[in-house]
Amino acid sequence: MVASDIKLTAFNRFLSERQQKLGGALFIVDDEGRMIAHSGNSSPSNILHFPNITNNSVLNATINEISADWPPEPEKLGKSFHFDIHEKQGYFYGTVKKIALPPPFQHQWYVVVALPDQLLLESLLSQQEISIYLVIAISVVGLVIVYLIIRQLTRPLRDTAEAAAKLASGNLTYRINTPANLREIAILKDAFNNMSGKMQESFNRLRQQVRQDNLTQLYTREGLIEQAAGLRYRSPNTLAILGVNGFRDINDSLGQDGGDVLLRAIAQRLTDLAEGSKMLIARVRGDEFAVLAPHTTNRTQSEALVSQLLSLFNRPVTIGNDDVLVDACAGVVFGYTYGDAIHESLQHAGLALSEAKRSDTAMYVYFEASMQARVQEQSRLLLELHHAVQHHEFVVFYQPFVRLSDGYFCGAEALVRWESPSRGMVSPAEFIPVAEQSGLINQIGMQVLEQAAFDTVAQIEAGRWPAHFQLHVNLSARQLLSADFIDKLEQVLTRTQLPPENLTLEITESQLMSHEHLATSGLTKIRALGIKIAIDDFGTGYSSLAYLHQMAFDSLKIDRSFVHSMTENSTNQRIIEAVVAMTRGMDVHLVAEGIETKEEAARLREIGCHYAQGFLFARPLPLAEQPTERVTDKLPAR
Ligand code: C2E
Ligand code: CA
Ligand code: CA
Repeated sequence: MVASDIKLTAFNRFLSERQQKLGGALFIVDDEGRMIAHSGNSSPSNILHFPNITNNSVLNATINEISADWPPEPEKLGKSFHFDIHEKQGYFYGTVKKIALPPPFQHQWYVVVALPDQLLLESLLSQQEISIYLVIAISVVGLVIVYLIIRQLTRPLRDTAEAAAKLASGNLTYRINTPANLREIAILKDAFNNMSGKMQESFNRLRQQVRQDNLTQLYTREGLIEQAAGLRYRSPNTLAILGVNGFRDINDSLGQDGGDVLLRAIAQRLTDLAEGSKMLIARVRGDEFAVLAPHTTNRTQSEALVSQLLSLFNRPVTIGNDDVLVDACAGVVFGYTYGDAIHESLQHAGLALSEAKRSDTAMYVYFEASMQARVQEQSRLLLELHHAVQHHEFVVFYQPFVRLSDGYFCGAEALVRWESPSRGMVSPAEFIPVAEQSGLINQIGMQVLEQAAFDTVAQIEAGRWPAHFQLHVNLSARQLLSADFIDKLEQVLTRTQLPPENLTLEITESQLMSHEHLATSGLTKIRALGIKIAIDDFGTGYSSLAYLHQMAFDSLKIDRSFVHSMTENSTNQRIIEAVVAMTRGMDVHLVAEGIETKEEAARLREIGCHYAQGFLFARPLPLAEQPTERVTDKLPAR
């Protein structure tokens, strides 16, 4: 048996020392509320049942807090309770713990501790503060590490993206050189470098194709531009474009291979000519060659070169078993044609070439500024013509023709006029060529035909024109060649109720000559409808008189150039006499155009021409002003 004597006053002192440090209350009490020891110094220790200890308010308040419910339920032990002391203005936390005393003790002791929350909170706050700083610091360090890792990983990707952008902007030589740590990225890098290498190869090949003509090994248009753009000379020089005449026919008759042989032969002759000089030679289009000659610094030299170029076509080219002779014409620019001016010069030379091709006499044409202006004016005109077709701005004038035997008006030619809101009344001579080139003639021609047919039917019905009146309407080859022309023609006849025998369509001899085969089949179809055909401007199209027999037509209109300069025993008179003689056996009406004087009328009548048309009898006039009387007064007495 061990017994120990605890001095409660010493115990009290110990507790009050602790309490001074902590600023709370601390005591041991048994289950019946008897104080064993407490931190309230100077107070008796053996106080029963929680008496007031007046000199320690915290102790008092703590005792108050727990004494109401003493001894505490077992589940409350170790739990904290919360109370406040108003005079100290503070909150306190307390807790009660049981000290299990071994037998023979019959009582239970409890340790009660109360501490100001300030104490707890302070440590808590400082602890929290530290942890917040710590978390922030860790996060920052973490972020930096993650950033560095990502940077390291994505650098090759970024380089690839940059390289792709460079590639897109045309830098095909760029390669990625950054070492790649990841296998996938290394594969990507290699694939990229591979791809840009391949792209550069095909780009170079393509460039070569664009620069050099495959067929002739000459420069292409682009190649020539590239070369000429880099040239700098002080003196003017010559740029000529040579166009092979009738190249399409050669292709048609000898096949494309034959055409290729011809082009290669021409290229070879040009190359031979250029050898040893600084001339640049190119094939700028299918059948067009360009020559840029820096050594021709004055106009005489320039013209000498052009003649030399054209003389290359004097010798035939052997294609298979055939010797083929072709000729060419040239459009030439003399001036500063290189450097930046090359684009414009090529365009100008092209314009001059078109002029040369149109010309019947000139083999070459030098560019002049007026050509440019004309082309611009033509495109303006074309734009307005489109508008005119849509808004039906065309009106039809009629120029009658007269039977020379008795002066009767027996028909009229419909001649189109354009009543343009901006230009006023425009002559067909101005706009028909543009309309023909653009194909607008198809619509214009149909509008004229329909209007003229309506007018004629109305005039015949009103008794102003005789029942057998011949309406002549001009027809362009372009219309005749269009696939649906015959259908449209029939539709117009149906709509207007014009009998086909009242209609004659005029087509010029020169247009018939240039589209021989197609035109003849078209003419046959027209005549099968009961419509008549007149060959217009006869004598200007170089058709042989013998050839006339093969053509299907009903009347011939002798061109006014023959009538005009027809004097006693002149060549023109003899030509007209020959035509009259030729057609005598044929069932053909002869019409002389452009009669302006009584003498011309008299001579034509003598020669045996049946009909005449010209200002002498009537100018082209609107429908309302058409003459209805006979014009015997305009005819000389017999
Ligand atoms: P074209 O068919 O030879 O028409 C005759 C032209 O000669 C008319 O000119 C007419 O005014 C003119 N003329 C008539 N008598 C005389 C004369 O005594 N002396 C002179 N110096 N000239 C005379 P216009 O009306 O200016 O027509 C010019 C050309 O326009 C026509 O020549 C014809 O080829 C074309 N054209 C007119 N209307 C049409 C049309 O509806 N369709 C087509 N495709 N062409 C048309
Ligand atoms: Ca005519
Ligand atoms: Ca005519």
